[in-house]
Amino acid sequence: MEILKNYIKGHWMESKEKECIDVLNPANQEVLARVPYGAGTAQDTEDAIAAAGEAITEWSRVPVMQRVQALYKLKSLLEANKEEIARLISLECGKSFAEAVAEMQRGIENVETACATPTLMQSEFSENIASGIDEFMIRQPVGICACISPFNFPGMIPFWFLPYAIACGNSFILKPSEKVPLTMMKVFELIDRLDLPVGLVNLVHGGKESVDTLLDHSEVKAISFVGSTSVARYIYQRGAANGKRVQAQGGAKNPVIIMPDADIEMTARIIADSVYGCAGQRCLAASNIVTVGDANGLMKEALIEAAKNKVTGFGLDEGVEMGPVITPESKSRVEKLIELGLAEGAKLLLDGRGASIAGFEKGNFIKPTILENVALDGELIGTEIFGPVMSLLPMDKLDQAIDFVNGNTYGNMACLFTSSGQNARTFRNRANAGNIGINIGVAAPMAQFPFSGWNDSFFGDLHGQGRHAIEFFTQTKVVIERWPKEWTRKF
Ligand code: NAD
Repeated sequence: MEILKNYIKGHWMESKEKECIDVLNPANQEVLARVPYGAGTAQDTEDAIAAAGEAITEWSRVPVMQRVQALYKLKSLLEANKEEIARLISLECGKSFAEAVAEMQRGIENVETACATPTLMQSEFSENIASGIDEFMIRQPVGICACISPFNFPGMIPFWFLPYAIACGNSFILKPSEKVPLTMMKVFELIDRLDLPVGLVNLVHGGKESVDTLLDHSEVKAISFVGSTSVARYIYQRGAANGKRVQAQGGAKNPVIIMPDADIEMTARIIADSVYGCAGQRCLAASNIVTVGDANGLMKEALIEAAKNKVTGFGLDEGVEMGPVITPESKSRVEKLIELGLAEGAKLLLDGRGASIAGFEKGNFIKPTILENVALDGELIGTEIFGPVMSLLPMDKLDQAIDFVNGNTYGNMACLFTSSGQNARTFRNRANAGNIGINIGVAAPMAQFPFSGWNDSFFGDLHGQGRHAIEFFTQTKVVIERWPKEWTRKF
């Protein structure tokens, strides 16, 4: 079985760590590859940092218009290989092929947006700000930047950071999730064809040892993390204590409010896609569905119908809409959370536990599940499930529903379904979340906008994507100049 190599200094290199863990297909537990995982990955990471350090000076001096030429080439290569990469995503992550293609498209859009870096990096100039004095600001690279990514979007999330970091003149190290390392192995085969300075972009495998090396090394200046809240908080604290700039995106528990004036059928379909897309393993998955007033009676059957009809199976099989969750442990955790909800007084409207898919009996499948009347003072209501489970919560008034939304310790996304502009305006103003959807089920910002989580969904100041990324990957330098007439040589 293939043992995955690191990409360091422009070469595929064997890890110094001999211990490996299996990369598994979550639909049938087939071993796809083995990935180095253990203390030795710290040395691999040191090697990557050294390589990234050697590349930085040359690259930072390359004019920005020239730097983005590599991104134009990368965009073409990604487009030409999109389906092959998407197949790898489905294979190791479990999601359907259509979801994997859409994921890659979102990644490519970030490469496109980063092609605008020559304009996005432009800065401010004030002439004669004091008598005979001009003042301006320039943006310069920060140095070596690192990204630690989660399992659920192996093809998209690294692109929230990588293209912006290199376009701004930095070098880059990626540590992908050990559960889904194959997608980025393929992407790095394409990156290898870009003629970038050797060592500018590196990939290292591993887990905590590799991450801690990045967090502690004085030459690493910026850390971009996406993953669970407990790890995000740790990354932020340790990275910041070591003087680095850190952006750490965490977990979520996303509420959606449905008003009685919403379009029932369309709303049910959109919400089912939001809850069950990517088998609920999405930081923007709707989870707590609040039906206001008559909306409960109107929506219940439509939601059950939309959920029941989701075709569950192996992501690469024709017509499959929902794949397995990532590991057997995830499956058992989600099933235990459903039991917790029941123990806390909820009722099952649709039970997806114990699912078995013909030909994929060993897969980590859970079918769409709906719980009703989940206890508002229980544990499940605030726990990220990260599986295909919807909690239905009836409430009387929009105000009460907004108070519920704002009681959330997370703040990744909140959505409202309504046909009233007044309700929409009230909601978008008062809801405490960084990404708001109005008649949208997955309020995922396009590449031009920051991915704006709040509260326990984000630690840091500047988010991924768009202008925020440009600011994160550059440091500002303000220059104040005076050129007195009497000091100027006359020819
Ligand atoms: P995770 O936190 O377990 O792992 C993420 C990364 O951190 C991996 O690369 C892993 O190797 C590393 N890691 C894990 N434990 C570590 C530790 N103790 N010390 C140092 N590094 C460690 O997350 P996951 O299970 O891969 O991803 C799912 C989570 O990510 C969910 O909570 C989901 O909501 C969140 N997520 C958030 C966003 C967002 O934009 N806010 C996007 C996608 C996923």
